[in-house]
Amino acid sequence: MTQTPTPPPTEVAPSPEVTPQRAASLEGLAPADVDFAPPLVHATRIALHLLGKGVSIGWLMAGMGTSGENRTTPSVAECLRAAGRAGLKSHVAERENIQSISPLTLPCILLLKNDRSCVVTRIQGEMVEAIFPEDCIRGESDYPTPRKLLAQQLNDDYTGYCIFVSLEEQPDTRISPLTPNKERRWFWDVFTHYLPIYKHVALASVLINLLGIASSLFAMNVYDRVVPNSAFDTLWVLAAGVCLAYFFDWLLRNLRGYFVDVAGHNADVVLSSKLVSKILTMRMSVRPESTGALISNIKEFESLREFFSSSSLLVLVDLPFLLLFLWLISFIAGPMVLVPLVAIPLMIISGFVIQRIAKREAERSYAQTMQKGALLNEIVNGLETVKSCSAEAHMLRKWELVVDDSAEASSRSKRYATLSTTVSSGISQMVTVAMIVWGVYRISTGELTMGGLIASNILVGRAMAPLMQIASMLNRLQHSRLTLQVLDKLMELPSENDEGQAHVDFGHIQPAYTLEGVTFFYPGSTVAGLKEVNLHITPGERVAIIGRMGAGKSTLGKLLMGFYPPAEGAVRFGGVDLRQIDPSDLRSRLGVLPQDVVLFHDTIRNNIALGMPSVSDRLIMRAAYLSGALEFIQSNPAGFGGRVGERGMNLSGGQRQSIALARALLLDPDVLVLDEPTSNMDNATEAIIKQRLGKVLAGKTLILITHRLSLLDLVDRLIVVEGGKIMADGPKQDVLQLLSHTPPPVREPHEGASHA
Ligand code: ADP
Repeated sequence: MTQTPTPPPTEVAPSPEVTPQRAASLEGLAPADVDFAPPLVHATRIALHLLGKGVSIGWLMAGMGTSGENRTTPSVAECLRAAGRAGLKSHVAERENIQSISPLTLPCILLLKNDRSCVVTRIQGEMVEAIFPEDCIRGESDYPTPRKLLAQQLNDDYTGYCIFVSLEEQPDTRISPLTPNKERRWFWDVFTHYLPIYKHVALASVLINLLGIASSLFAMNVYDRVVPNSAFDTLWVLAAGVCLAYFFDWLLRNLRGYFVDVAGHNADVVLSSKLVSKILTMRMSVRPESTGALISNIKEFESLREFFSSSSLLVLVDLPFLLLFLWLISFIAGPMVLVPLVAIPLMIISGFVIQRIAKREAERSYAQTMQKGALLNEIVNGLETVKSCSAEAHMLRKWELVVDDSAEASSRSKRYATLSTTVSSGISQMVTVAMIVWGVYRISTGELTMGGLIASNILVGRAMAPLMQIASMLNRLQHSRLTLQVLDKLMELPSENDEGQAHVDFGHIQPAYTLEGVTFFYPGSTVAGLKEVNLHITPGERVAIIGRMGAGKSTLGKLLMGFYPPAEGAVRFGGVDLRQIDPSDLRSRLGVLPQDVVLFHDTIRNNIALGMPSVSDRLIMRAAYLSGALEFIQSNPAGFGGRVGERGMNLSGGQRQSIALARALLLDPDVLVLDEPTSNMDNATEAIIKQRLGKVLAGKTLILITHRLSLLDLVDRLIVVEGGKIMADGPKQDVLQLLSHTPPPVREPHEGASHA
């Protein structure tokens, strides 16, 4: 167990010259022997195993982040959250010493000093049996046998905190029709989780509404008692009282806003994390076609969250007080309460009717907004191409057309929104007029006082206020409902690590590939990307896949990485069907360089160590040396701390490729799948990489997708793909000889500077 602490990225200095001695020391480094998983991750895996659930370290590590710039190890919460995906229920508890842990709660994880941990399996008097992660052998599926030791010995190391674990009961598939769709509840579950905060909101609302009566009582008493008698003392007492009431009203409104914000903020963090986590684990075969539309949808989530946690919902809390106000009006003004009693249903019905008519427009406007997002994304990402093809005017025209449609749809939708607001405010104004006219008649017959008329008018205003807001709330509800529908669909898409899938730790699988009758179609395509492919690649074999552009070479590579499942046949890794291996397990064994290299807006160091922040700088240096990146990193004043820009824009195509190659080589994986690794590089750099790679490839399985003859020196076997089928497969010399008699599918390196 070696955990290498890593200094913050900014501390990485530019690397010195690559001397022969230095090169030898970098080549000799064997990162495969280094264990990057923290002890707690091992302990969690052991606990899960003891509870009957086998998961691998790779799977657990894939489910956790290392948040914070300078943090390299996951926190306890992150680790337990990752284990929760496998159905582990856990809670951290404080226990003074090991003897105070009940044997009935075992196994339990103990948090030890210096970030260590162990799993206690038995407590018997003064003796304890515990499994220590440091006894694990990396990559083995074996679990170490418990060590017997005195409780006192363990107590010396114990921090006082332990984690109790148990497995969640998984409902039987037979009863699944009774349980509601889990993905559909993603939003409401989180939202209702924070509902308890709303009890404070409800309490504040009760008080605010009660205080609201104060102003009407004040006006009534002033007009009926103070004005006729010129009772100035009473006036001042009443004024002081009403000011105090207004002060508390102000205080409570602020408090209510604060609680609503707290609930909204908490729900926001959890919900947006759920959304992005869904996108990260989404199966490639169901990935939405438009990135821009997807981003727009996620942005719309903001409005959804805002709606459900904002003050607009407070209207619903205020609604029950309508009855209180109506009762007060009937108490003060008798039958005049009929006016609001008739107006209220009118207002609600008109609001709902207009919303129903506006529904179609709102949907059209939503779709147009998505289209706008998709086009904008395409324009910004393809700016260089647009400029180089002088297609600015064409793109602008396309944009104007979309914006025109979108603006029209949105203005139609807004027209309905305005209509519903104006109808409700019109009704409210009519109510005031009717109340005053009727009130004057009642005053003339002595059935109502002047103060009573004013008070009942104030009360009617207060009663109608939440109803007026209902109109605008219904408009926003329409929009939020659409967003929720779209996001519900997104959340229902299958994930690579869907719950319910059995997680099995296969241990150290042999790095061999077998393809049996594999046929594959891209989503939505009727033409097979691969047809009836049969193939076996033994561990340690070095194979090149060659063929014309569009032949299916990269498609084959994607299937080997488990990005897509085959439509027919099976892809096996070490004899196990890829559909049974967890994708994160498989990918932890692979070093992959995709054809389209993507770097992230960060330092060169962090781009090489993507997803592995705890990797030591020496290993990063080694990977950069092997991939030929070290040379240009040296010439950069910021060295490994240099920023690569968004999508790696600050670097050349070849530099980006060498950084991505370093990423693939970082952990010395058993299998390397390299898709056109040097297509953007010059011949000299390619020669350097070839020579350096040649030295470290011993024992590794290499799958090289290329059309550059010069790279074939690295392989012993050639597979020729044509139209999704394997046309030739055999030792390099034999296949090359065969190809020399048929039209060549490969080109000379100088011709093939741009890849297929
Ligand atoms: P190459 O041999 O040049 O690497 P690919 O394997 O990338 O070729 O592509 C093989 C065929 O699959 C091509 O005809 C291409 O049009 C199609 N294809 C590639 N990627 C996709 C995709 N994401 N969706 C649909 N079709 C695709």
